[in-house]
Amino acid sequence: MQADLERILIPRAAIARRVHELAGEIARTYEGGEGDGLTLVTILSGSLIFLADLIRELPLRMKIGLITVSSYRGATTESKGSIILHELKVDVAGRHVLLIDDILDTGGTLRMVRERLAGSGALSIRTCVLLRKPSKAPPDLVADFVGFDIEDVFVVGYGLDYNDLYRNFPDIGVLRKELYTS
Ligand code: 5GP
Ligand code: MG
Repeated sequence: MQADLERILIPRAAIARRVHELAGEIARTYEGGEGDGLTLVTILSGSLIFLADLIRELPLRMKIGLITVSSYRGATTESKGSIILHELKVDVAGRHVLLIDDILDTGGTLRMVRERLAGSGALSIRTCVLLRKPSKAPPDLVADFVGFDIEDVFVVGYGLDYNDLYRNFPDIGVLRKELYTS
């Protein structure tokens, strides 16, 4: 897999350190009353490893809800708009929601999921993304918790895919340009 990468952008040790720090920030926000009614709504599939690492650092009572959204179809890196592949099955009425996504790029995915949750009776909705591309994220879409700001390159690994490949690569790396069609 490593041969398909142009370079490593964020090594696994740096990811682990930052996930630990993020968990501290999140725990401080929700501890006390709010933590009791917390549901982490996670946008799959890209967030699966981030979720697994983050929740084991979070000493809060929580429920987990999953929603699967696809913004890329097959072998392309260009967003063609987001579609829901699997709906959220948990009820978030009366709960504090923390939305988890792998990366905030154009913001289309987070916007769509937020809008769907708006009428759900959630007490609050905050967002947490592992990565953000600030050059593209629209100014009105602010994430409450951000792991890393990165340049506008196509990254894979640590759950992020290209055409469903590379999710199991432990670092976050930049895919070689000749391997994808954008
Ligand atoms: P947005 O809807 O904000 O444009 O894009 C968010 C989604 O697009 C993310 O959840 C992720 O699945 C995908 N995405 C955006 N940028 C990248 C990238 O650099 N690498 C990969 N693998 N996925 C990305
Ligand atoms: Mg995604």
